[in-house]
Amino acid sequence: QEQQLSNGVRRRRRRVVLFSLPFQGHLNPTLKLAALLHAGGLAVTVLHTDFNAPDPARHHPELTFVPIHETPLPDAAVSPDSDILAKLLALNAACAAPFRDALASLLLCSGGHDDVACAVVDGQCYAAMRAAGELGVPVLALRTDSAAALRNMLAIPRLRDAGYCLLPIKVANVDAEEKLDEPVPGLEPLRVRDLIRVDGCDAGELCSFVASVAGAVGAWVSGVVLNTFEAIEEPELAALRRELSLPAFAVGPLHMLFRRAPAPAEQGPHAPDRSCLAWLDARPPRSVLYVSLGSLACVGRGVFEEMAWGLAGSGVPFLWVVRPGFVTGAGASDGEEAPPPLPDGFEEEIKDRGKIVKWAPQREVLAHEAIGAFWTHCGWNSTLESVCEGVPMLVQPCFADQMVTARYVTHEWGVGMEVGEVVERGRVAEAVKKAMAGGDGAQMRERARHLKMQSSDATSPAMDGLVQYIMSL
Ligand code: UDP
Repeated sequence: QEQQLSNGVRRRRRRVVLFSLPFQGHLNPTLKLAALLHAGGLAVTVLHTDFNAPDPARHHPELTFVPIHETPLPDAAVSPDSDILAKLLALNAACAAPFRDALASLLLCSGGHDDVACAVVDGQCYAAMRAAGELGVPVLALRTDSAAALRNMLAIPRLRDAGYCLLPIKVANVDAEEKLDEPVPGLEPLRVRDLIRVDGCDAGELCSFVASVAGAVGAWVSGVVLNTFEAIEEPELAALRRELSLPAFAVGPLHMLFRRAPAPAEQGPHAPDRSCLAWLDARPPRSVLYVSLGSLACVGRGVFEEMAWGLAGSGVPFLWVVRPGFVTGAGASDGEEAPPPLPDGFEEEIKDRGKIVKWAPQREVLAHEAIGAFWTHCGWNSTLESVCEGVPMLVQPCFADQMVTARYVTHEWGVGMEVGEVVERGRVAEAVKKAMAGGDGAQMRERARHLKMQSSDATSPAMDGLVQYIMSL
């Protein structure tokens, strides 16, 4: 592929190689960044796993896709019941050698290092960052979480040495329990209870994962790319740049950069059920609560029932994403594609007041005027999507960076309130009513409207800076 310069000289286009771990919340921003880098004049190759592979034929004709053929994934990498850390460790192991081989053959075929300007690699995939670095390719780490979450993650070994609890609150010792509301020095406004946690994982394993990521970043990375924007994370980004001594490009919210051009279609585990849009059309403005805990979070049967009866008891119309696998231990007979059964009598109780889908076209849902609030797990993509549509949130963080983001949503940006640590039907119903109708709800909506305006100014200049930096590598 050639490019004509302004002086008439033709030269080969510089190429960027992207690689994302195969999570919904990582692939979608990566593919959007890929399309934007292409639009910025770069040739783009997307290396990807066979698991959850993107569909190039349908969605991204302008990009080149190459499978790395990862080694067969163990159950830990794919099972809905395994924790996020187990998934990350298994995926890093399965991708290490295949990614290296795929990149090495790309360098051989494409004219080598003159052609490939850099690799933009999933910032949780230390194996790929290291492999690219060892092959002499400049590496940029793409973070699909917030700057605050990355700062928290990199601080984990220090926090552990200082005696902070990294385990689920429920199993933490009494001493730690008393400290849960103390602010964490250097990471304010986070309190101990807001720190990244992974239920069921071992604190030592978490620290060694973080050490691998930090080691790869320290040794091989020339810059960090984040799907965030200065207006919401200015102090966090400034601190991150100081701490890493690296350029950090805040190019988000990536999905907002496609307002004038068609966005690449979203990659999802299920086909979005578009019938919910017609259902929303028939509802008054701001009357519906949208409920979704993303693509990975699961709840036990007890919490699921409390959520259901809390929604029923609130009297508020709701659209609820109940994906297959959302309820743990739902039983093998349910099959992989069947959503978990609803509580007995629930559908009769809610009638047409509630709509339940396996997967929603979330961005269109959040942009719909019928939506009044979003009950979310505070996944970073969902949070950005809500912020950009000015939709206030009811937060129920489940694991990892969701705790951090929930704190920012509720206390820093003031656009959300907590469902409560214990999900109980009476409290749920009260929280839902308050978010939708109360004075608190109105204040959150006003602040959300303000953030929406800021998010829409945050777009192209940061991308231009990133493209120039890549050209300079
Ligand atoms: N999503 C969607 N339909 C759904 C639920 C989620 O399109 O029914 C999308 C959502 O718009 C977001 C992504 O899935 O882009 C979830 O990413 P997030 O970072 O919020 O959470 P994760 O799934 O990684 O926990």
